[in-house]
Amino acid sequence: LNSMEVNLEQLINQTLLLVNNTLKKQRIEVEFEYFTEQTTIMGDAEQLKQVCLNIILNAVEAMKENDESHPRTLYISMEEGTLIDVRSRYLLISFEDTGKGIDEEDIENVFNPFFTTKEEGTGLGLAICFGIINRHKGELEVRSTLGKGTCFTIKLPQHI
Ligand code: ADP
Ligand code: MG
Repeated sequence: LNSMEVNLEQLINQTLLLVNNTLKKQRIEVEFEYFTEQTTIMGDAEQLKQVCLNIILNAVEAMKENDESHPRTLYISMEEGTLIDVRSRYLLISFEDTGKGIDEEDIENVFNPFFTTKEEGTGLGLAICFGIINRHKGELEVRSTLGKGTCFTIKLPQHI
């Protein structure tokens, strides 16, 4: 890891800029809810940007087939947590979409390399994300309801 101070709010904004055209074209709204004073952690900015990009692109693809009556919203939220002492502060970042959701039988496989339900998918995006978050001593979790949407949550310690 090329560890440096990373402002996750800035990093998310930079990532959204990369997909701005796609978001516009697909009429996807992005809503933010930041319950944090401090959005900075120590980590590898390039790798964490890759994580955000993979998760956002998956969300975009999951909302692609939403019909007109179905909202297309990506909710991005951040909150802070503390374990026992201030040395173990962490940030929770969630990306929640209103897309097609994940089948119950698929959900345990989404982090496996080469697992994909897409015709032209590689199945590598989330496996790479999982590895990156692991190397940051963090956690990556998913919750999903078929037909409603999916939420990926990243838990990252502020210092590694
Ligand atoms: P790929 O995007 O190439 O298929 P990923 O590792 O990024 O590979 O994702 C693996 C699989 O997890 C996807 O094929 C899809 O079935 C599921 N998935 C990931 N993110 C979402 C999401 N936001 N909504 C619905 N399904 C998802
Ligand atoms: Mg992907």
